[in-house]
Amino acid sequence: MTGDKTDKKTKIIKTIRIDVDKCNGCRACEMICSAFHSTPKYSSNNPARSRIRIIREPLRDLYVPVYGGEYTVAECAGRDKYTIDGKEYDECSFCRASCPSRDEFKEPDSGLPLKCDMCEGEEEPLCVKWCMHDALILEEREEEAVEDPEEAELEDLEIGLESLADKFGMDKIMDAVARMNQKD
Ligand code: SF4
Ligand code: SF4
Repeated sequence: MTGDKTDKKTKIIKTIRIDVDKCNGCRACEMICSAFHSTPKYSSNNPARSRIRIIREPLRDLYVPVYGGEYTVAECAGRDKYTIDGKEYDECSFCRASCPSRDEFKEPDSGLPLKCDMCEGEEEPLCVKWCMHDALILEEREEEAVEDPEEAELEDLEIGLESLADKFGMDKIMDAVARMNQKD
């Protein structure tokens, strides 16, 4: 039956805060991410396969670390330019999408989208660990866990059975199930 509100499960949500001002474009994060996700692990590195990309414009001193997010089939219609502390950032500078209008976050051979998985299985994301300039900062917060969909379905089934049992009595329900089994 449903649990009391006080014993709801929680889970730890990990996020990475980016301090753009501290990034110097060294690309160590791209290297380690692509190496970690190569097959076998650490057998090669190629920034084009990284799930974090540095949007770099050295002549304008612009370095923006961006994490691969959701895949989208269509380009977005609206594009924006940003001016922050006197620096002008281009339209897609902060966008995380793997989308048709650019090469970032696509596996170079297959074109399949690349999304950050927070280095599943590692205690700390490797890009955070390898950033010597503290431009990437791991943050953790506790959140109420979203109910397991399978558990929710079972709960619905139980509620349905309970209402049938109330209406027809448990014996009749058991008889009906037994008849259904015989048909199989
Ligand atoms: S490792 Fe850190 S400083 Fe180097 S490019 Fe990545 S985010 Fe920037
Ligand atoms: S957290 Fe892991 S998967 Fe995500 S960008 Fe950093 S190194 Fe790559």
